[in-house]
Amino acid sequence: MKYKKTLSFVDKHRNELLNDLQTLIKQPSISAKNEGIEECSILVSKMLKKAGVSSEILRLNKNAAPLVFGEVKSKSNPSKTLLFYNHYDVQPVEPIEEWEYPPFSGKIIGNKIFGRGASDDKGELITRIKAVESYLQEYNDVPCNIKFCIEGEEENGSENIEKYLKKFKKKFSCDGVIWEFGYIDTKNRPIVGLGMKGLLYVELSVKESIRDAHSSFATIIKNPAWRLIDALKTLRDSNGKILIDGWNDNIIPLSQNDLKIIRKEPFDANDFKKEYGIKKFVGDKNAFEAKKALVAGPTCNIAGIESGYTGDGAKTVLPSTAKVKIDFRLVPNMDPKKQIKLLKLHLKRTGFDDVSIKILNAEAAARTSTDEKIVDVVCDSAKKIFGDYILNISNAGTGPMHAFVDVLHAPCVSIGSSFIFCRMHSPNEFAKIDLLNKTTKCLCLLIENFSRSNSKN
Ligand SMILES: [Zn+2]
Repeated sequence: MKYKKTLSFVDKHRNELLNDLQTLIKQPSISAKNEGIEECSILVSKMLKKAGVSSEILRLNKNAAPLVFGEVKSKSNPSKTLLFYNHYDVQPVEPIEEWEYPPFSGKIIGNKIFGRGASDDKGELITRIKAVESYLQEYNDVPCNIKFCIEGEEENGSENIEKYLKKFKKKFSCDGVIWEFGYIDTKNRPIVGLGMKGLLYVELSVKESIRDAHSSFATIIKNPAWRLIDALKTLRDSNGKILIDGWNDNIIPLSQNDLKIIRKEPFDANDFKKEYGIKKFVGDKNAFEAKKALVAGPTCNIAGIESGYTGDGAKTVLPSTAKVKIDFRLVPNMDPKKQIKLLKLHLKRTGFDDVSIKILNAEAAARTSTDEKIVDVVCDSAKKIFGDYILNISNAGTGPMHAFVDVLHAPCVSIGSSFIFCRMHSPNEFAKIDLLNKTTKCLCLLIENFSRSNSKN
């Protein structure tokens, strides 16, 4: 099979891609509010069928969002399988008054299509579907087996994805996974991503008295806010180093090759600082150290802290409780369960066993090795279609990649169509039409290259 015919197919059917994307955007599917989830799963399944992909809706239990499965078996090469992981749910649209066009309109202005999900992740999903459809239309076959795993609660923490993968493990078995998103920078270079950090999200709280008191009693009643601050100061030093005993023990250091890739990654430290109005990075890192930390640094971040009175004017009060939310980003080989144990042990050992811990989210990190052949497949395809690409060892954020690596034992690589400033998760989210087109072509080539590759270098 030659991918070339699929490229002209993609160009010829550009308007259909946009129509389908509009149809998807017009169907709200907000997982956080369980709004339109059922309807959207049915719509996506129908869209797969329309493209020639057989599809069914999988279910776990009544609390889990339905998952759309799709499959095309290859007649010419049934021995290899590529799986596309995407999601059909979107973020809430608030603040609604800041939208220039209604969030579920799919309004097209010039090279942009606006709407919630235009990029994240309905735009990405449509590029995958169209690439597969182009093969089916032009050749009545695909170069290798194709599977789709399209979940409905990614924006709400992907709580059930691992359970789905375990329950339907055979259905999802594959030789490689193309991840759900991928940014394209301002110079039209797609960012090929090989990993995601993990996350441990906890709430720590201290309760002292049974009610708030007059602050004149501060001489005799302990203040839980001070108590919490004292505990927090034992977790991390001012340079960002985590002080919990054993916290970093399992981290595998970056290889020489990893460092080479990080060095190559473009990063303008001054631009970044300007963007956020900051003068220095944490620990006064230079540009290279900052890049390294984004890729492979664990974090201990205070996401929010609450106690006492913070309104206008003065209120002399001694609060009864204090609460903090902390997110720890984890890197490969850190087991969230072990990290929780270490945190509990640390608070006990340092005399803070009165600090309560509530675990809100725990997810391990994942990283695909550059030795996997699929990495070359994606990079070569990106280079050919876009002219250039950027390789990224790991995204600084978190996603459920570990579930795929762990359950399916398949390497995961991300490449996508989202412009880097596409206002994902914000008002006026959009996708660039030329990038949707190019990414679809890149996926056409990628499918063919993948079908011909061996699994390891
Ligand atoms: Zn998102």
